[in-house]
Amino acid sequence: MVIVPEFKRPRGHMQDCIFCKIVKHEVPATIVYEDADVVAFLDIMPARKGHLLIAPKTHSKDMLSVSPEALAKVMRVVQRCGRGVQKGLSADGFNVLQFNGRASGQIVDHLHFHVIPRAHNDGLRIDWEHEIYGPGEIKRFAEKIITACADEKT
Ligand code: 5GP
Ligand code: ZN
Repeated sequence: MVIVPEFKRPRGHMQDCIFCKIVKHEVPATIVYEDADVVAFLDIMPARKGHLLIAPKTHSKDMLSVSPEALAKVMRVVQRCGRGVQKGLSADGFNVLQFNGRASGQIVDHLHFHVIPRAHNDGLRIDWEHEIYGPGEIKRFAEKIITACADEKT
């Protein structure tokens, strides 16, 4: 076994991962659900109070690197937490958000889903400007994605 000294580890290495530390109870977090594979805890900087993060216990950077089996386990807990915020916080609804890569807004490189409780007219904006497809463009986008998806193993 090769032990890489702390100063030689690449930045963002899983040994420095804050969510791995939460999984191992090495840093405090307000955990609302935990099983053998998944943990759910309150986001320290919530979009709305009760905002949850749901993460696999085994480190994966994002949706592309996690196994389908581990992802399925996480999604079960996302659903459970959605029910939890609706019922427990009397939310009118909730958003599920997830980010892959810096361009998308991912900050913590350990796969996680946000569950954000919503109330009618709560003022939280999840908003974007709409783009417009040119003639035939929607089909060309679809074809590229269909071809790429056909190469996928799962
Ligand atoms: P994302 O990577 O999805 O863009 O955002 C990461 C989320 O993790 C942010 O909403 C941020 O507030 C939350 N976060 C970052 N560090 C910690 C932490 O140490 N504890 C908790 N509970 N949440 C964190
Ligand atoms: Zn991690």
